This record gives sequence, C-alpha cells and structure tokens, in this order.
Amino acid sequence: MKILVGKFTLEANEHVPMMCDIEDVAMSYGADSLTHMQLGDVFDRDDIEVVPTICADAACSGVMRRRCFDHIEGTILNGIRTNLADLDGIYLHLHGASYVECIGSGEMHLLAAIRQMVGPYLPIAVACDPHGNLTEEYVHNCTFIRSYREAPHTDIAETVQRTCRELIRFIEQPCRVTPVYRKLPLILGGEQSVSTDEPVRSINDFMNHLEEDPRILSASWHVGYLRHDCAEAGCGVVVIPSDPRYAETAEHAADELASFVWERRHEFHYTGTTAEPDEALAMALACKGRPAFITDSGDNVTSGAMGANTFVLQQVLEIQNLDQKVLFAAIHDDNTCHKLGEFAVGTTCKISLGMALDELSSPIELDVEIVAHGRQEGTHMYGEHGDYGPLATVKIVDRPVWIVITDNNHSFVEEHQLDACGVPWRDFEVIVVKQGYIHPELKAAGALSVMSLTDGATPQNTKLIKFKRIMRPMYPIDEI
Ligand SMILES: [Zn+2]
Repeated sequence: MKILVGKFTLEANEHVPMMCDIEDVAMSYGADSLTHMQLGDVFDRDDIEVVPTICADAACSGVMRRRCFDHIEGTILNGIRTNLADLDGIYLHLHGASYVECIGSGEMHLLAAIRQMVGPYLPIAVACDPHGNLTEEYVHNCTFIRSYREAPHTDIAETVQRTCRELIRFIEQPCRVTPVYRKLPLILGGEQSVSTDEPVRSINDFMNHLEEDPRILSASWHVGYLRHDCAEAGCGVVVIPSDPRYAETAEHAADELASFVWERRHEFHYTGTTAEPDEALAMALACKGRPAFITDSGDNVTSGAMGANTFVLQQVLEIQNLDQKVLFAAIHDDNTCHKLGEFAVGTTCKISLGMALDELSSPIELDVEIVAHGRQEGTHMYGEHGDYGPLATVKIVDRPVWIVITDNNHSFVEEHQLDACGVPWRDFEVIVVKQGYIHPELKAAGALSVMSLTDGATPQNTKLIKFKRIMRPMYPIDEI
C-alpha cells in the first residue's frame, strides 16, 4: 500500500507583532522530514511504501504569511497530485490552531483542498494537538482524527503511531465511518487544563471508558485555542465509531462526552502554584531548595509569545542587595544576540536588552560579561532535533544575574536545552522561563515552580481578552 505523509504545525498568536514567514518555520522535505514525525516503526513493513512530503513545524508564532502557507500546502498537494493514481491513504500531523492571513485556519483550508483532489472516500488520518479548534466540516473531511490526551504533551509519539495504525487498518479493511463532532460553548486556556490535574484526568478516564466499548474506535476532546479571535475557537469533542453500523452509538457517546466536559466547566483551574508577579518572585527567592522556577506566563513562548519581555528582569533588578543567583532562560532580542556573537567569552561590554515592541519589552541598558556562546537545541517531546539558532549567555556586572539571549522565541523546556546555555543551572536559586505551565522535566528538576501572572501576549485571565468573532454566549466570558 502507498501512504502519503506530511506535518504542518503552528499555534498562531495574533497578539504578537511578528508574522510567521518561511524563515520562522523548521522545514524539512522527503526522507529527512520523516525523522521529525515521531512515526516509530509503524510504517516499517515491506508492503508499505511511504511518500514523504514536508514537515513544516512553526511551533508557536504569529499569524502566518499567505506565501508561507501556500508553499506548505502546495508541497503536500503536489505530492498527492503526483501519486494520485495509486495512493491508498494519507496521514497528516496537524496542530489545529494555525491562522493564515486572508484564509483563516490553514488546516481546514488544506483538508478541504485535499478532499477536493482525492474525493470523499480515500482514508485520511490526522493526529492533532488538543489546543486546536475544530469544525464539523474539518472533522468530516477526516476518516480518523485523534488528539493527544496529555498536557503538557508527553504522548505525541503514541498518538501519532496510533493514528497511523488506524490508517493502515482503514486501508486493509475498507470501512466508511464518519467522525461525530460536538462543539461546546466553552473556551479555556492551556494553563487551566493540565492533564495530571482535575477535571482533565476524569475527562481522559471517561474517554478511556467510552473506548472500552468495541463499537467506539476513538474518543478525543479539544481544549481549543484562544490566542486568535475566530469563529471556530473553543472546545469540541470527536467520537469515531468502529463501523458504520455503530454510527448511532457514536452520536450518543459524543453527547455523553460533551455533557461530561460541560458539567465540569466550573472546575477548570490553574495547576500548581500561581501568583501575581511580586508575590511569585518573593516566593521563588524565599525557596529553600534550588532551583525555583518562575514561569513568565504572559510571555509564554510555548503559546506563541515573543519571549522578549523584560518585565521580570526589571523586577529582579529593582531588588537591592540581591543575594540569590538568578538565571533568565531566555530573553529574545535578535540584534543584541547577534552583536554578542562578535565578542569573545570573558569580554565585558554594554548592551541594550529589549526589543521595544511595547512597554513590557522596554530596553534595559546593562554592563555584562560574556559567559558562553552556544546553540539552541530542539525540544525532544515535540519531535524537534537539530539547531534552533544562536544563544549568548551573559552575566550582569556586579549583580548575581545571568541572562541567556536568543535571536528568536524558541522555548527552553528540557534539561538539555538549559545545559546548552553553558552555566551550571542547577546551582541557581531562581530560573525564569518563558512558559505558562512548567514543562515536566523542569518541574521535576525544580524545588519549586510558580506561575507568575504577568501581562503580555499570553495573559492567563481569559475574561480580559477581547473577542469579537467567537461563538456567543461562551463560558467563562459569558455566564452560562
Ligand atoms: Zn498543545
């Protein structure tokens, strides 16, 4: 059998000043693209021919330029067109929260174009992120669609491989099922839907329970994505029957799952320790163990923010007689990062840190010593490998403050990424990272993790975000 594969992922935050263009996307093609798709050995069979197209991983960024999306979509569609005569199925890894200028959802545009090309019956299987927005049309264009259950996403590879196995089954045993979709008038931030915590744990258990029925092939729920204002924003559930005979059972299960989530709408909450910025900093500085992590949640690069805010740095610099060692990993300022690249380790120089995009990223004049030059490493849990740009680590002269400065908003969420900064980060009392919820490796490595409710492009209080295009009424923006 012949299976075409591709990956396109982007969380598009419209509240950042950058547009996502070709240079902001980690692109790989052909056989190389397969190494970023977490496919495992699922297609390693003599009777399966894989047709790779593209892996376009934009991670979290701004709204995508039309020309960039046209390139990604065109590459996938060209692959399909070339192989159309003997193609048996299509596997796609999509995020669900892309936004493209003049188009809107890139995933929906892509799937509609594919369906138009291959017709209504060719099996299409999609693995996706639960922080994406769905519509009935999007879901109906898929034969099989399943989202990761865990947030943070520790089960991406498992979801990808499960999806691929189901695709193989749909090709080997042709069976025309229609996924059932239910949209909920509920919009949530990712920081309120961590899967080790309630109510997500119970929702995942309930989906496992539904899947114990052999008539139900798969149950998924989508938290949705709220960093751009669009009609499809919000929660949804998808249930897929194992056979068309069980379509009614799947409809019933989808209603049950939708009700189960809806009845728990008041239970979503921040996981872990959360505090206003001054209190969060005080808690981290007072922590007996080390390191204490502060997540700068308003500038969360894992949800598309620029990572350029200097607000927490200003907070730290205002403390007179600071005894504790503080590390920022990282602050994004491309000009300063490139300037530092010209100086040798050990050099002292003056820098201006802050991209002046807004008040929160105001530049700060600093005398610094260059401690290390390095390269940013990929986030393994997201399937990233390779080089993600330069970094320079500096120490502020006469202050116990170290700053990793980067030329992009790539995230630092795993230990090896901190190791690459050239400082013994485990010895620091406080480490400030640009995340919302702390990611699992750093959580395990820290004596404390506190989410600082900072302002920025990724504010945590959903009620403060101005929406004009979403479905209304919508909880918790409206009381329902
Ligand atoms: Zn996600």
